[in-house]
Amino acid sequence: MTTIYIRSAETRFREEIVEFGRSIFERGLTAGSSGNISVRLADGWLLTPTNACLGRLDPARISKLDWSGKLVSGDPPSKEAFLHRSMYEERTGAGAIVHLHSTHSAAVSCMSGLNEADCIPPLTAYYVMKIGRLPLISYYRPGDQALGEAIRGHARKHSAVLLANHGPVVSGASLEAAVYATEELEETAKLFLLLRAANPRTLNDEQIAELKSVFKLEV
Ligand SMILES: [Zn+2]
Repeated sequence: MTTIYIRSAETRFREEIVEFGRSIFERGLTAGSSGNISVRLADGWLLTPTNACLGRLDPARISKLDWSGKLVSGDPPSKEAFLHRSMYEERTGAGAIVHLHSTHSAAVSCMSGLNEADCIPPLTAYYVMKIGRLPLISYYRPGDQALGEAIRGHARKHSAVLLANHGPVVSGASLEAAVYATEELEETAKLFLLLRAANPRTLNDEQIAELKSVFKLEV
């Protein structure tokens, strides 16, 4: 007799977090135990644990939280849980969130003179399509809950924000979408740094309006 094993949605999401975490870590997009990944569930949400290396996650030990922030099961959650919660509460369509201290995005987050309403220029169509406008959130010390409120102020209008002297927080309809958008942001931050002395030609307002219309972008 054949036993049919049906994996629950939660089991699949746990495995996806482990796979994407390993991929992110192995390509140097995060280092040590920095960065965290979350996924929305029907009855709460999953988040990578505190002090966990994204390259070596155990699906059974991923933290499961309820919407009050209480730990339901697994290891204690990342201390940056409140960043994710603020974003989910404002973006009810977000299915997953990725927060990294990835080098090029973090480098841009430390630059002075950025346009705080939109801190990376529209260099490519894919950046406009996956990220759109990227607000810069002021610096807060690690653990300062006021950062959650600052994110809340921008999250309804923006799927991604850049935390000053820290790194990006990127949401997506699925974990795959959030990871790919985070990678697009990191690559565009790299282009921005390469080109900053070169007076680059960016997409103009007409080209951005065309992208918004053709691809029905919300930004
Ligand atoms: Zn962080």
